[in-house]
Amino acid sequence: MVTPGDAMMLEIVKCKCSNCGHNFAAPSLGDGAYGEFLLRSGSGLIAYLNVFEDSTFKDVDDLLAINPKTLALPAIERARVLRKIYGGRV
Ligand SMILES: [Zn+2]
Repeated sequence: MVTPGDAMMLEIVKCKCSNCGHNFAAPSLGDGAYGEFLLRSGSGLIAYLNVFEDSTFKDVDDLLAINPKTLALPAIERARVLRKIYGGRV
């Protein structure tokens, strides 16, 4: 868990854009990060998300459970949609 003011350990990883194939370096939380994500905007801004502390993650999960397009999906598929909304790999 990271609280404001704490130092965050990041590693720099090599990435390949899935749209155009160009290579670039980007920060990563590493393989041990569970429930933590680095969200990237199209303009390059990066934000940290801890799903156990951020209420929007649970709110969006609840909305997917009642949305007519996603409520019939198996739980693992809904979880995949949720991760994709937050920019995670699916
Ligand atoms: Zn690209």
